[in-house]
Amino acid sequence: MSRRLVILGSTGSIGTQALDVVARSGGELELVGLSAGSDWPLLLEQAQRFGVSRIALADRDAAARAAEAWTDGTVLAGPDGLVELVTGGDCDLVLNAIVGAAGLLATVATLGEGIDLALANKESLVVGGELVNQLAEATGAQILPVDSEHSALHQLIAGERAGTIDRLLVTASGGPFRGYTPAQLRDVTVEQALAHPTWSMGGKITIDSATLMNKGLEVIEAHHLFGTPYDQIEVVVHPQSIVHSLIQLCDGATLAHLGYPDMRVPIAYALHYPNRTEVPLPALDLPALGALTFEAPDAETFRCLALARAAGIAGGTAPCTLNAANEVAVHAFLSGRLAFLGIAEVIERTLSRLPSAAVHSFESLTEADAQARRVASEVVERLSH
Ligand code: NAD
Ligand code: MG
Repeated sequence: MSRRLVILGSTGSIGTQALDVVARSGGELELVGLSAGSDWPLLLEQAQRFGVSRIALADRDAAARAAEAWTDGTVLAGPDGLVELVTGGDCDLVLNAIVGAAGLLATVATLGEGIDLALANKESLVVGGELVNQLAEATGAQILPVDSEHSALHQLIAGERAGTIDRLLVTASGGPFRGYTPAQLRDVTVEQALAHPTWSMGGKITIDSATLMNKGLEVIEAHHLFGTPYDQIEVVVHPQSIVHSLIQLCDGATLAHLGYPDMRVPIAYALHYPNRTEVPLPALDLPALGALTFEAPDAETFRCLALARAAGIAGGTAPCTLNAANEVAVHAFLSGRLAFLGIAEVIERTLSRLPSAAVHSFESLTEADAQARRVASEVVERLSH
């Protein structure tokens, strides 16, 4: 029987690769809904190509234009439209490939409805991990990680009994500025930051990889996905991006998950779980690779990693504040209003101005997110003068 799938963020890097996985599924995955932020021409083209009759656009103007251009299907608009796409369409699985905290609403709508969630949008777990987990538990919906490291960990952990895993080792490529000193980082350009050595991804996560914030967010993500205490999650830099993560067991064995860096592998794993499917990749050629290397991350120079870990440990609204400040800072960097090193500065100052508070509801997260964006924008303003 085919699985009825909705892809949120289908016009992005993960979204388009997920469509490739769907196209190769031989009908096992049936697309029943697609969404994007504002790129309505591409979204319409995708809907027509895959015979999808329901789409949603977060941007209302874009939705209005799509509705004018397309009379064969339903165009939903705004955040309510996104929720309606998920809850009103009788689907079995949602892939959340939206970027940023904007993805939290869709995560909540999916899990609240008891629908299984393939999760690329790590920000949902960073921002609302505890509440998101409680919701999944209450409805019995599963969260299947799409992030490559967490997909690897999911596969490694599945074979082990509870209480036998000592540590999770999350690998990081180190990004384009691995080995740089603070002095060398001072004048790096947007173009340099966007040139990731091993992965091709959307703009926001590529900058997060350059600052190591991406790895910080992933430590928090791993904590929530696997219930692992922070002192048992370690980051190790591995520039070749062949080992996607490892687990260290109580008997001295360490297990690793290897493969070429291609997001279609973890996407296919999540969409077909618990089945496996073919992904067109060459077999891993270890002699050709020759050497795999590992080093400790430089958390003093790349402060975002330490800031994220500290926010995760502090809990409450701190990870939400961290994430919102990061989104504001990355946006400012990409639009040329903030220097690369300013990103960590904005996050640190925002966190110090907004002490962590307890999270009682998703509304309190929305408020913390908005407040952090206001403060972070002020800090950006001040730093750019
Ligand atoms: P992207 O920028 O390429 O695509 C983002 C998608 O989200 C687009 O379809 C866009 O239209 C949509 N979108 C943007 N703002 C929106 C909003 N406010 N409301 C609704 N939709 C909106 O991003 P990406 O690189 O595909 O990353 C998506 C998510 O997956 C991120 O959370 C990222 O951290 C995670 N992730 C990505 C990769 C990767 O290889 N790209 C790997 C691991 C995890
Ligand atoms: Mg990752």
